[in-house]
Amino acid sequence: MKTKTVQQVYAPTAPHMVGDGFKVHNFFPGGTRIGAHRMSPFFLMDYGAKTRFAPTETPRGVGAHPHRGFETVTIAYHGKVAHHDSAGNSGIIGEGDVQWMTAGSGILHKEYHEEGFSRSGGIMQMVQLWVNLPASRKMTPPKYQELARAGMGNHALADGSRIEVIAGEYLGTKGPAYTFTPVQLYNAHLKRGASAEFSFPALHNTGMLVVEGAVTINGTSKAPADHFTLFANEGEAITVEADEDSVVLVLSGEPIQEPIATYGPFVMNTQQEIMQAIEDFNSGKFGNLE
Ligand code: MN
Repeated sequence: MKTKTVQQVYAPTAPHMVGDGFKVHNFFPGGTRIGAHRMSPFFLMDYGAKTRFAPTETPRGVGAHPHRGFETVTIAYHGKVAHHDSAGNSGIIGEGDVQWMTAGSGILHKEYHEEGFSRSGGIMQMVQLWVNLPASRKMTPPKYQELARAGMGNHALADGSRIEVIAGEYLGTKGPAYTFTPVQLYNAHLKRGASAEFSFPALHNTGMLVVEGAVTINGTSKAPADHFTLFANEGEAITVEADEDSVVLVLSGEPIQEPIATYGPFVMNTQQEIMQAIEDFNSGKFGNLE
């Protein structure tokens, strides 16, 4: 197997606020030159690096807004996020939990700091990924997967290190998430000095976000905390060695080779479909959520 080479290690971009609750660094599509297609099927990655929020009686967050044509995946590392959507689903995403929401044909949702977390204040750290859907599945009915930490696939490595599998499979250990296209999504928990090997098809778009600690990739590339590593589309094998106790979000997937038309919260294939999404949203076809 040939080494999958590191294309670039990106420092976090300047943060922006999503509503008043999430201070995020966008790694793609807008924040860097990675662009809308380069990490397909992952369309967007917003990273809320550790941020301390003061106690408040009024939960911070982002109010009701629509989505169509893709999935939102929220991964909580610190803090708690409460979620409600117009399909009647709601839940709390706590540390280590993942929420996988298929917007599909259209949904309204809102995301706020959980009430108890808001009252006590504390550190929030999370990732939101937008996973694109192929044209044939863009109008699939909305769906909601609440993936608790306890239900993740767990592949033990030596000395207490482990690969937590959210989606896809790592050396036979499967993750609980249902995906519409081939996606691998792991949290690698590596103790200082430990290393892990990964293998992904050459043409699958692959990246890693260091959430905690610091790692060395393929023996040479240093990836500190809060940095995103983009891999070239050649070779398969990756080695990650932890320079400190580390947590690394690993994502890889088969690209969806279709045109992308996007406007705000909609990710479709054509401009006409965007116009239709706006019209459907304005005429109330995405349901109700206060
Ligand atoms: Mn949203």
